[in-house]
Amino acid sequence: MTRSAARASRDAPHVLIVGGGGTGGALAHDLTLRGIRITLVERGEFTSGTTGRHHGLLHSGARYAVNDRESAIECIEENAILRSICPGSFEENDGLFVAITDEDMAYYDDFVEGCKACGIPIEELTPEEALRMEPLLNPELKAAVRVPDATMDAMRMPLRFFATAKHRGATLYNFMEVLDLVVDGGAVTGATVRDLVTGSEGDLHADLVVNATGPWSEKIARMAKVDVPISPSPGVMLALRGRLCNMVINRMHRSGDGDIVVPQRGLSVVGTSSWT
Ligand SMILES: Cc1cc2nc3c(=O)[nH]c(=O)nc-3n(C[C@H](O)[C@H](O)[C@H](O)COP(=O)(O)OP(=O)(O)OC[C@H]3O[C@@H](n4cnc5c(N)ncnc54)[C@H](O)[C@@H]3O)c2cc1C
Repeated sequence: MTRSAARASRDAPHVLIVGGGGTGGALAHDLTLRGIRITLVERGEFTSGTTGRHHGLLHSGARYAVNDRESAIECIEENAILRSICPGSFEENDGLFVAITDEDMAYYDDFVEGCKACGIPIEELTPEEALRMEPLLNPELKAAVRVPDATMDAMRMPLRFFATAKHRGATLYNFMEVLDLVVDGGAVTGATVRDLVTGSEGDLHADLVVNATGPWSEKIARMAKVDVPISPSPGVMLALRGRLCNMVINRMHRSGDGDIVVPQRGLSVVGTSSWT
């Protein structure tokens, strides 16, 4: 069967995805490629949850290369996949990790070694080379490393997944809220939903129900008496009008407060999604 012939037949297994963020959209795209029948419900606009509000950084994995190599490897692999399947969705601007203090330099060797071990292509730069690329860097910088970070539009990129899933026959509902899960003999077999536009309610049934509700996963799982503990972590991001830089600028040290600037179209987003 060719990829274009993989449109789901009426007898194909049916999956109900709850949540229309990046996870739900990408899953709908992937499963329709495999000939699975998809229904997806989202209680707001698509990408209106965490996905539409994130930093917009396509991670190279370098940020995790010292502390969490498993995530770093996953990031660089996904980075390459997303660039190839979503061309045009990214500003391919690369990133710099910049060492300013002696403390940053103490992290440098571990950082370079970690990136190499994780297969993240890097280029070690002199301060002069880095300043030529980004003239507003602190002129006292001691060293910089170029990494394949990129910037994405947090809403437009995932909308491509919804579009291709719909093109392949997925049924996508926005403004449709899951009120409860239908549980039969210990298995989740569907969901009770409310159409937030008309107010009508009903049950949707499926062979499999996927909880793709991000930070709301705990609440949805509880409907099936399943415990999925979610732990919030603190972080602050500030969107400033105008671009301070064209590349993604990271401080060369362990994740902390305010250690990254992501240029996002006409804005500069400064901050850290989590400093813990
Ligand atoms: C501040 C911040 C910055 C980040 N920056 C980056 C970054 O730069 N790069 C990166 O790769 N990642 C980043 N992340 C992580 C990224 O945003 C998340 O991993 C991703 O958006 C999670 O997507 P999701 O689809 O799982 O969740 P969400 O996008 O939250 O989607 C869940 C959806 O479920 C829906 N939902 C909830 N309850 C119901 C219900 N009862 N019925 C129907 N629908 C329901 C919600 O409305 C929501 O749209 C950042 C995260 C944060 C918090």
